[in-house]
Amino acid sequence: ADVAKLRRQLGNIRIRGKRCPKPITDFSQSGLSSAVLDVLRRAGYEHPTPIQAQGIPCLMSGRDVIGVARTGSGKTLAFLLPVLRHIALQPRAGPGEGPAAVVIAPTRELAIQIYGEAKKFSKAVQMKSVCAYGGSGVKDQIAELKRGADIVICTPGRMIDLLAMNSGRISNLRRVTFVVLDEADRMFDMGFEPQLTRIVENIRPDRQTVMFSATFPAQVEKLARKILQQPLEIMVGGNSV
Ligand code: ADP
Ligand code: MG
Repeated sequence: ADVAKLRRQLGNIRIRGKRCPKPITDFSQSGLSSAVLDVLRRAGYEHPTPIQAQGIPCLMSGRDVIGVARTGSGKTLAFLLPVLRHIALQPRAGPGEGPAAVVIAPTRELAIQIYGEAKKFSKAVQMKSVCAYGGSGVKDQIAELKRGADIVICTPGRMIDLLAMNSGRISNLRRVTFVVLDEADRMFDMGFEPQLTRIVENIRPDRQTVMFSATFPAQVEKLARKILQQPLEIMVGGNSV
């Protein structure tokens, strides 16, 4: 009952699914390293937004999650901070090694935005992120990936291209254990569902998979049922249907 009250107070957070961890009220409760907390402080992120307050402990508990909250509510950090912790716990990628985490976003602009946010933490976590999208030099992206990347942020189309090429082990998804599908509703509207299904089929089944979306239409729920395992659903505010 206390937790239910806390969720209401934090901003109308609703949950579906069993054994959902309690939301955090401060980033310092999240189990992130002090180096990461320093970056947050310097960037002026004082308190977690509602989707971050509930999303971060859910993702950090290792669960599959679908997080639904309106645009501008801070979904990027809700998945990026758990991804950073995940990366920090893995061996760094050596040359030719594939990433430990993949983030898929519908457009080049969004991929670049997420990449920009991830780069703020590169030093604190000692990780290498690579951004891959269509419409620009695939060769440069491949060269960068070949040098080894801990996290790859990409559009569905480009990831499929990389998988199809399979030349320089860039399509090596063997090490991937954390997958994020951002703006799932938009990816669905843009017709990316077959690509998304194909990508996750190439990733080991014991991966952690999370989806974030501004809305939660039936098709997105169907996709979630297909690729997530016993997910927790987090819905913030009133725009969940
Ligand atoms: P969404 O993905 O839900 O549309 P974003 O992750 O892009 O939202 O965040 C929207 C804006 O809010 C960004 O400018 C981001 O820097 C800012 N922001 C995110 N988290 C926080 C926070 N905890 N405190 C203050 N600002 C934040
Ligand atoms: Mg977003």
